[in-house]
This record gives sequence, C-alpha cells and structure tokens, in this order.
Amino acid sequence: MPRALPILSALALTVTLLSAQASAPDPPAVPSPSSHALRVLVLDPGHGGDDTGAQVDGGLVEKQVTLDLVRRLQPLLESRLGIRVVLTRMDDRTLTPDQRAGAANSAHADAVITVHVNSSVRPSASGPEIFLHQSGATPLSPPSVEGAADHLPVPGGQPRPLTFTPWSAVQSQHLFTSRALGEHLALAVGTRFGGTPLRVRAVPLRMLAGVNAPAVHLELGYLTNPDEAVRLASELFQTQMADGLVDALTQFRGDAEAAQ
Ligand SMILES: [Zn+2]
Repeated sequence: MPRALPILSALALTVTLLSAQASAPDPPAVPSPSSHALRVLVLDPGHGGDDTGAQVDGGLVEKQVTLDLVRRLQPLLESRLGIRVVLTRMDDRTLTPDQRAGAANSAHADAVITVHVNSSVRPSASGPEIFLHQSGATPLSPPSVEGAADHLPVPGGQPRPLTFTPWSAVQSQHLFTSRALGEHLALAVGTRFGGTPLRVRAVPLRMLAGVNAPAVHLELGYLTNPDEAVRLASELFQTQMADGLVDALTQFRGDAEAAQ
C-alpha cells in the first residue's frame, strides 16, 4: 500500500530518532563496503527468560536447546574459522527483538544467525528450515533528500550528521547477501540432515528487521518429533551442525573475498 509508506516512514524515522536519543539499541549505520567480509559472527540463541519458546511436556525447552547448541558452537567456529563469535545471550534471560538486533549491530556483526527449534501439532513434522527477513518495506531516502532534518542536535556540542536508515528497513539493504548466506546454509545443512538442499523462504521476521548485516533465521528441527528431539540434544547433531556452519560460512566468506 504505497500511500501508507510516507506515514510509516515518518513514524519509523521518529522511532529511530527517539531510540538514538535513548540508550539501547544502537541506531543502525549505513553499511560500509567492507561489511560483507566475515570477521564477526553473531549467534542469537532464540528465546530465553520468560519466553521459553517451543516446549514439549516433560521434555526439552527451546530456549535451553538453542543456548546449549550456540554455546558449544562458539569456540568451535572461532577456532575453525578464525573469526570472533559473539552471542546475544550467554544465559537464561529475556531479550526483546530490538535488544537482539541492537546487540548484533553493536558487535559490528558481519553475519548473524538466529537459532531456533520448531514445534508442530503433527508429530511427524521434522527437519531444519531456513528463513530470511523480507517485509517489503521501502527504505527511506536520505533525510537531506527528503528535506527533513539531517542533523541530530547534541546537547552542549556540535550537531552530528545523521547517516541512518530507518530501523525497520535496515535488513532490506542486505537482502542479497542474506539470501547468499541462506543458500550456503541450505546446502550445507540440508545435505547433512536430509540429503538435499533446503528451500530458503523469505518472511517478515521482527528480530532480523533491525539487523544491519546479512542475517538468517535457522530452525534446527522439531522438538515435537520424538526422534528429532533426541537427535537435537545429541553431541553428534551438534558436531554435524558445527561442520555445516563451517562449510556454509567458508563459502559465504569466499563470496565476499571473490567480490573484492
Ligand atoms: Zn523459536
């Protein structure tokens, strides 16, 4: 609905201005040409604290499964890829989607993977899935082009120039590289766990919308599938997932190096 866009854009701008004046999360910056290199990977263990995520009676809880896996992956990926791996949470705490995106942006992430496990009323539902964020939102033109204020006053100091994009439209600038990351994961993870590459699907995702880097949402499998629940908690699965991520991220890094 094109007519709604200017109002939405103005609202997004206002929200961004307010969040820039308040504390967290950091306002997203316009990406630099070097932002496709892979030096910092942010892993986001889904849910946490009051938000348990998927849960099976008397069994595993999503917030714990994701945290356990990501904490194991962190040192493995750091040593095997020679990169820094930052986690959005190290313990069982509640984080808003904006706090997760803000943590990734503050860490200057070059790639972000948010990790989840799924649930279904069908016990047979199984297998990993990969999603990208795509809201269809149109990025704002630079404020100076729009005629809006292009400097944010700083109390007691010189105004500093605003070079931001609306929070809600940040991820849309990375759609191409997010898809590349998703496709590498789809191949590496899909062939390991199902024999064929996965399909990468684009849907609106609240957390990824504000991430200023290539970003994907990875569903590891279904807690509601009894066989898969056992596998998700196994050391073998964690090792295979680490191998899959190393392969995918190596390919992704190769893309960036080839483009330079
Ligand atoms: Zn989840």
